[in-house]
Amino acid sequence: MHKLAQLDHAHVWHPFTQMRDWLRREPIVIVGGQGAVLHDVKGREFLDANSSIWTNLHGHRHPKINAAIARQLKKIAHSSALGFANEPASLLADKLIRSAECGVRSADLNRHQSQKSIPQSAIRNPQLKKVFFSDDGSTALEVALKLAYEFTRRTRGKKLPPKFLSLGGAYHGDTIGVVSLGHVDLFHKAYGEMLFKTDQVMSPYCYRCPFNRAKPERADAREYRKCHWECVGLVEQKFSTRKKKGNPFAAFVFEPLMQGAAGMIPQPGGWLRQVTDIARGHGALLIADEVMTGFGRTGAAKAESGNRKAETLFASHHENVQPDFLCVAKGLTGGYLPMAATLTTQKVFDAFLGEYEEFKTFFHGHSFTGNQLGAAAALASLEILQSEKSVRQRTQLQKNLHGELQTLWSLPQVGDIRQVGLVAGVELVKNWRTREPFALRERAGIRVCEAMAQRGVLTRPVGNIIVLLPPYCTTPAQLRKMVSALRDAVKEVFPAGKTG
Ligand code: PMP
Repeated sequence: MHKLAQLDHAHVWHPFTQMRDWLRREPIVIVGGQGAVLHDVKGREFLDANSSIWTNLHGHRHPKINAAIARQLKKIAHSSALGFANEPASLLADKLIRSAECGVRSADLNRHQSQKSIPQSAIRNPQLKKVFFSDDGSTALEVALKLAYEFTRRTRGKKLPPKFLSLGGAYHGDTIGVVSLGHVDLFHKAYGEMLFKTDQVMSPYCYRCPFNRAKPERADAREYRKCHWECVGLVEQKFSTRKKKGNPFAAFVFEPLMQGAAGMIPQPGGWLRQVTDIARGHGALLIADEVMTGFGRTGAAKAESGNRKAETLFASHHENVQPDFLCVAKGLTGGYLPMAATLTTQKVFDAFLGEYEEFKTFFHGHSFTGNQLGAAAALASLEILQSEKSVRQRTQLQKNLHGELQTLWSLPQVGDIRQVGLVAGVELVKNWRTREPFALRERAGIRVCEAMAQRGVLTRPVGNIIVLLPPYCTTPAQLRKMVSALRDAVKEVFPAGKTG
């Protein structure tokens, strides 16, 4: 075993990993990367098919991001945001607000047909004005949670505790506050006594929807589902029931267009707009978790902005939803450095203004808040994202991904193929005709990913869903290799006739 692998085995405890399994084999030790390729210590090459856990946007060692960090290093790496402003963080806050405000109509006149009962004034999109920096996805959500909690107490009164609604299976991070906000059974079992109670509503998982009366087909379940938007009805019911209890929901939390760690669950077109109209109609704040979906991940799309069309970088804007809290992380720095941001409105900000001794301050912040190197990388990444070349590249990659994925339908173990922009989830099942899932102990997803690694393609499954989330610089040949490795891995793990 390589010396570095030995040191890892001796001392490193890996995240979300059963270390007994980990210690059974020699780990791949990454020492370098270029574009969509990772190099290990033994000189092998691997394709980074999940963009290093959904973080990398433009590929590794991008010359523009490298140069931006190097330039910043010549000035300073870090100074504290507690007490001081700094150059790249100020510039980044401005750029983030401008990016988040372009591509969405602020006074929305196009509400969904089914929501006519909601007063127009209640569903206007707010304007985002302020940026609170933090370190990663969990903390970006933690900030939104605390701000929404305190804002609600200050505006509605402190008698009743603010209540939160989020989606079934939701993952918003692993710190205690956001574990409460999420609904991953495993975590709630483990940490239940430390958590506070939040409510959940069914996510629109068309492939396994109890209301979808369509038989499985060899197509994305959103395309052939037969239903009457019962899932939207359930959201309305949740809000009405809470209102009757005299304490309407303070906030509705969601990942727009596609839920990631819950199982790459894409929302059928129109769902987001309908449920957010309902939430706003009931006076709830909207918290959009764009930790995975942000920065062009859900596809290049033009949205109307005033009287012109503008490229939007955020999934919420695809359905013209502007949340009250927009949480970003992972891709913010192009996947280079740990940095996150929670964007919010002037109204929320104003609720925290007061005299020093009133203690209306937002009591939250970390040592590395507003870090200069992270901010410099993020500025460079945004500039690349907004270039015409990058938009063209992403549009083409999205098309190619769609084309390549279609070749997987011939595999009997493929139950559903779900693509939103540059994210794809391939759900493996025991029997596609019945949608029968693999048992947990069969470790179908893990085994397939291990077989993909043997073929030089790295990704990590979500249960039995194989995730492809390529860096935006992935070439057609590299993309073909990612998908063919997946196809060959499934064939190897489940030889003809064997389904388990
Ligand atoms: N929200 C979403 C949607 C995520 O996918 C993740 C991480 N997978 C998080 C929050 C937490 O982010 P982090 O791991 O950076 O804390």
